[in-house]
Amino acid sequence: MALALWLIASASAMAAGPNLAAISGVRIGENAGQTRFVLDFDRAVDYSLTIMANPYRAVITLPAVQWQLLPGVGRSGRGLVQNFRYGAWQKDSFRLVLELNGPAKAAAVRWLPPSADNKAHRLVLDLQKINAAEFKSQNFGAYQPAEVVATKPPAPKPAPSNQAASTPALPEPPKPVEYKTIVVDAGHGGVDPGAIGMNDSYEKNITLAVARELAASLRRNPQYRVIMTRERDVFVPLAERRQIARNAKADLFISIHADHHTNRATRGASVYTLSEKASDAESAKLAEQENKADLLGGLENLSDNEAVSNILLDLVQQETVGHASLFGSLLVRKFSQDPAIEVLSNPLRSAGFVVLRSPDVPSVLVELGFLSNPQDESALNRPEYRRRLVMGLVLAVDAYFAKIQPHSNGGTAEAR
Ligand SMILES: [Zn+2]
Repeated sequence: MALALWLIASASAMAAGPNLAAISGVRIGENAGQTRFVLDFDRAVDYSLTIMANPYRAVITLPAVQWQLLPGVGRSGRGLVQNFRYGAWQKDSFRLVLELNGPAKAAAVRWLPPSADNKAHRLVLDLQKINAAEFKSQNFGAYQPAEVVATKPPAPKPAPSNQAASTPALPEPPKPVEYKTIVVDAGHGGVDPGAIGMNDSYEKNITLAVARELAASLRRNPQYRVIMTRERDVFVPLAERRQIARNAKADLFISIHADHHTNRATRGASVYTLSEKASDAESAKLAEQENKADLLGGLENLSDNEAVSNILLDLVQQETVGHASLFGSLLVRKFSQDPAIEVLSNPLRSAGFVVLRSPDVPSVLVELGFLSNPQDESALNRPEYRRRLVMGLVLAVDAYFAKIQPHSNGGTAEAR
């Protein structure tokens, strides 16, 4: 039921593509102690606004819109706005996330109609600095902060393979035998760009390109059922990525990322499995970075409930983590065997990545290389290099299932 409704909605949204409202301008100004953020539209649309803490940020949620400005706009801010990000949010909405340099409230937020000297419909947000105590005590007046997160809950999806609008739903395999389900997760997306390279490559685009190529390669093997957590440039919360894998009863979850390091010389691929205790300080820092994805997308911080349930999950996770480590070491071996692929030293690592915390699905996170390193960045933009990485991944998947096969059906397949 819910699914059918969603499909209709998405079909009409696609049909209405050219009719989306368009954003043609954005400005930030300072006036009398306030910071004014203005968006130019060709028409007024529904919007909602919330301001959150840790870190302080203002989130504007809109219906799907056409962003008609050059990419890269907004990387620097002004006044209370440090910078802002924007992109698709869920299936049919769009978000701007304004990173604030301190606690603030909306002194005003309103539409201005076209005027003699400006033909655009303007959405105007006036931000005013307040102190942390005021921030805690304010009730946010007319713009109802709690509303935003609740406005567009992810549509319930009975079958995760129906997730993407761009491909027809995968039919259930005819026989419940012998196939393996692999979930391919393209890191970041939409409003969350992930790492940004020296030459402006966005991690979210590289992860999507590799994830698509990996899914296509795996699908050539009829024994693999492949599900992607996203197939386009859209934000997907970390918990939803995990849930897609769990709903599909996935045999393997592969999250694709590209890294960033303050030392530009650092380069090469690495593979991470879940551990509450990070294998080293760098891994801990990386996990912290990747776990910020939800925050960057404008979601609330992770709840305490998640922390508590993780302790309970620990007991059932041992075997899952063991399988993930097996896949991780096979993948590192396949990468290392290809002289074209650059591999980080000590490439098999572990840390507390939120996206890997499925108790019943072996999950790994692959950092393909460093966007902070010019050679890695240019390699990751080359289809030929991505093809080598994808080949390594496919070989590792094959080797992994060959190794664990004898346990699954009491069969006699030999471990290779
Ligand atoms: Zn990432």
